[in-house]
Amino acid sequence: MTFKAEYIWIDGTEPTAKLRSKTKILPGAPAGLAELPLWGFDGSSTNQAKGHASDRVLRPVFVCPDPIRGGDDVLVLCEVLNTDMTPHSSNTRALLAEVEERFAAQEPVFGIEQEYTFFAGERPLGFPVGGFPAPQGGYYCGVGADEIHGRPVVEAHLENCLAAGLGISGINAEVMPGQWEFQVGPLAPLEVSDQLWVARWLLYRTAEDHEVSATLDPKPVKGDWNGAGAHTNFSTRAMRGGAGAYDAIITACESLGEGSKPMDHVKNYGAGIDDRLTGLHETAPWNEYSYGVSDRGASVRIPWQVEKDGEGYIEDRRPNANVDPYVVTRLMVDTCCAALEKAGQV
Ligand code: ADP
Ligand code: MN
Ligand code: MN
Ligand code: MN
Repeated sequence: MTFKAEYIWIDGTEPTAKLRSKTKILPGAPAGLAELPLWGFDGSSTNQAKGHASDRVLRPVFVCPDPIRGGDDVLVLCEVLNTDMTPHSSNTRALLAEVEERFAAQEPVFGIEQEYTFFAGERPLGFPVGGFPAPQGGYYCGVGADEIHGRPVVEAHLENCLAAGLGISGINAEVMPGQWEFQVGPLAPLEVSDQLWVARWLLYRTAEDHEVSATLDPKPVKGDWNGAGAHTNFSTRAMRGGAGAYDAIITACESLGEGSKPMDHVKNYGAGIDDRLTGLHETAPWNEYSYGVSDRGASVRIPWQVEKDGEGYIEDRRPNANVDPYVVTRLMVDTCCAALEKAGQV
């Protein structure tokens, strides 16, 4: 007996990495992560090596049922190592693992809202040939064939994520036609990031069967059309409840605005961020940090319910749809958890 394992990894394409995958036939029945073998690939074809020393190593880090193939088959997310087993320079997961461990006692968790856009050929799905659809207004959370494009793909993707056991928490149609969102979390930093990468792979793979493509381009249509983001919702145990929870929430918001932090974050929140964070279309300007309650024009929003309850989480609205979740979660844990530790709010 054999089963198929789809080994998935993140490549070295710049400025935005791409997902790659290939299939390994393994004997027996699928076992846990520890039983899945290391594998290799040609790093010279993925911008991860030069041709004369091209081998790179795939080490499984997350495994789940494969909802596309079904049966005993599995999806295996991997990290990329050099042949001496050190993390490859494109391996941002290894950096997150260190930071997560350092601040584990604060129990940070994330929910990430992944926006994306379907394309049919050169045009966003629902855009008429040689022109534009009616201006934005009715599409967000809309219903009906005049407003909604790609729902069968979205539903199939949702089913696939659930069948894979991913912690997907919702979906919605977005502000521009052909644009959608799904949310993953709340989960710990490595968990949310691994699962978001697998959910992205499933999005591309599901859309492939419907002969459309999905893109995480942060500004797929120039002009008066919303960009695509990856709002990153964050909390620690201290922020989620108990005495001083709201003070901890304010400490986290303030820490993201200190010194060089706004720029340290924004420049790592996805290529092309200045095209999206213009100050229009529900964004704050990329070079001005702000936070506020209920404010969709701020960099960081405190949801109204959180202010009312005096506990909960904050939403960093700046990350682009094409952000690397290993990077955004690392930066937020590093900045906010260090400040909370310093303030004794843990
Ligand atoms: P929005 O109103 O911004 O569109 P969504 O409902 O799309 O909000 O997304 C909110 C996200 O916040 C979800 O992914 C949810 O899981 C996450 N979330 C909820 N509570 C917390 C929390 N305490 N810490 C971190 N994330 C949270
Ligand atoms: Mn949302
Ligand atoms: Mn959204
Ligand atoms: Mn949001």
